Amino acid sequence: MGLLTEGHPISWEETKKLSKHVRKHGIIQFINLYKKLRDREGDVLKWGDEVEYMLVKLNHEKKTAKLSLRSYELMLKLNEKEQADPSAVKCLWRPEFGAYMIEGTPGQPYGGLMAHFNIVEANMKHRRLEAEEQLKSEEILMTFTNFLRLGSPDSTEPPANPTPDTGYQRSLFLSDEVVFPGHPRFKTLATNIRQRRGEKVIINVPIYKDENTPKPFREDLSALGDDGSSAKVAKDDHIYMDAMVFGMGCCCLQVTFQASNIREARTLYDQLTPLCPIMLALTAASPVYRGYLADIDSRWFVVSNSVDCRTRGERGLEPLKGEEFIIKTSRYGSVESYLSEQGDKYNDTPLLYDKEVYNQLIDNGIDHLLAQHVAHLFIRDCVCLMSTQLDQNDETDTDHFENLQSTNWRSMRFKPPPPNSSIGWRVEFRPCDVQMTDFENAAVVCFIVLLSRVILSYNLNLLIPISKVIENMTRGEKRDAVNKEKFWFRKDITSTGEKDNALETDQYGEFTVNEIINGKDGVFVGLIPLINSYLNNMNVDADTHCTIQRYLKLIRKRSSGELMTTAAWIRKEVINHPEYKKDSVVNEAMTYDIIKNAYEIQKGVRSCPELLGFCTTSKTTETIPAAIAIAEKCHLVN
Ligand code: ADP
Ligand code: MG
Ligand code: MG
Ligand code: MG
Ligand code: MG
Repeated sequence: MGLLTEGHPISWEETKKLSKHVRKHGIIQFINLYKKLRDREGDVLKWGDEVEYMLVKLNHEKKTAKLSLRSYELMLKLNEKEQADPSAVKCLWRPEFGAYMIEGTPGQPYGGLMAHFNIVEANMKHRRLEAEEQLKSEEILMTFTNFLRLGSPDSTEPPANPTPDTGYQRSLFLSDEVVFPGHPRFKTLATNIRQRRGEKVIINVPIYKDENTPKPFREDLSALGDDGSSAKVAKDDHIYMDAMVFGMGCCCLQVTFQASNIREARTLYDQLTPLCPIMLALTAASPVYRGYLADIDSRWFVVSNSVDCRTRGERGLEPLKGEEFIIKTSRYGSVESYLSEQGDKYNDTPLLYDKEVYNQLIDNGIDHLLAQHVAHLFIRDCVCLMSTQLDQNDETDTDHFENLQSTNWRSMRFKPPPPNSSIGWRVEFRPCDVQMTDFENAAVVCFIVLLSRVILSYNLNLLIPISKVIENMTRGEKRDAVNKEKFWFRKDITSTGEKDNALETDQYGEFTVNEIINGKDGVFVGLIPLINSYLNNMNVDADTHCTIQRYLKLIRKRSSGELMTTAAWIRKEVINHPEYKKDSVVNEAMTYDIIKNAYEIQKGVRSCPELLGFCTTSKTTETIPAAIAIAEKCHLVN
């Protein structure tokens, strides 16, 4: 999505009436697309990352750090190169939900050469520098999942007061000025989600109970202008938040892969699904919300609650008033059903789907698994509609389908090819919190991509009942989940298990992240040992080999607890800060110091061996040397 839009957003009342129209045409568009593209074959591996950044304004004299609400200004500048020549840019910039956020991707996706693993980090560095050219003095660009004091008083530049009675979020804590102003999608989503729900969103994050944290911890919300509705839902001993930006204003790291055909895409979607909770735990980077230390380490459930548009009826709190279903989950959440034939028998959780849509898909030759997946996406209403999007050619357009697809935020996304493009069937891996340095982000991305290659070339089977994956997501966000939690995981991932009874409990057990990633003698083979045995059979140039090994080492040591997660590091910074009063409060001076330290670590001017180890640079290069591209005859498996 770029900045240019035509037309204007349609009001919620109208959108609600038109939701049937969007669903009706969306499903026809999917059917047409499927018929055209189901037999598409032979696409090669392509992949790319998405990194979300935040803009922070430091004041070194006053020792303050505030969110700088200038991303629209920045975007206008950053998009100039692409507008001039889209094929020549090294990176692409897109708006994100926060008025302080931008999203950057490589200019072109990477391909199947091993040497591509060596250019990811250089591209991330380039991106950072390109954006940094547009900064004003004392502004910095951070890859930091959640700004520590988002929603605390006086935490933006320019300052902006909350407007609890007007506007689209009606938050007690922050102004709508924190929402990206340059595209109507964001404020429309925030307005319509609140209006559809019939009340503000409710986010209650357990507070980290320290010695001097009030017992119970309870805030006086009436002092902020609460009419009583927030006090009713804010839980004791929780950090209460009431607006979409608290979730969608968090920065994350995503990876998209192209598969050779739809079957492979369905396999990858399924096989990577059980890894989502593991990667959530491993990349955890958000232990502070609204100036308080939390008892969780990652953003996942905060985002989920921040876009929960279900009515009281749909949440099962009141009789339904014309809505169709009681819906157990938010539109942001874990994958709830597998898509591949192999996954079918592990679908042990009843999936709510629109029966009419399902039947229509089946009648058009779409199989049960894909039909229920799409019909599940279509239980949701459209929550953002532009006036110019209404009438479409269902043979050639897919906007109505994409409308629902892009507002179903799951841990994985199954992405059909856009119409009339060279792009194939893709899957997107979405659970990770963003890390502070390019080195770490590149490590996470390369690890996932390598793993996807190992899964395909060794025909691994990571499947466990989907109910266990959903349960693992809850475990994955817990404080220090990497070291303290166990996760359901398949015991033998190297045999396909075709003959097994899927739900037999001796197929899976509970493992630590360390056991899953590094293996456990005689018990579990370990994902990194499998990646290494795969690499041993590949033709890898020396620099790329060295880079990959540094990335794997980081993942290995994070998993074993030898290195801290970002969340553990932030937590430590809070607890050891001289101004910390053991009361869970993260004040302005602490925020300044922590952000400044994080920035110095990210710039490589401050070492942080407890987080990164001693080896924090790679042999990354901006382009693949021609000799290596030629020498590397052995491509990655597609
Ligand atoms: P979204 O925000 O919908 O997830 P984006 O376009 O922001 O999608 O980013 C998708 C990622 O997919 C980018 O990293 C991009 O480089 C990558 N990408 C682009 N084309 C392909 C392709 N054909 N196959 C796989 N990945 C691709
Ligand atoms: Mg994107
Ligand atoms: Mg997006
Ligand atoms: Mg994004
Ligand atoms: Mg994405």
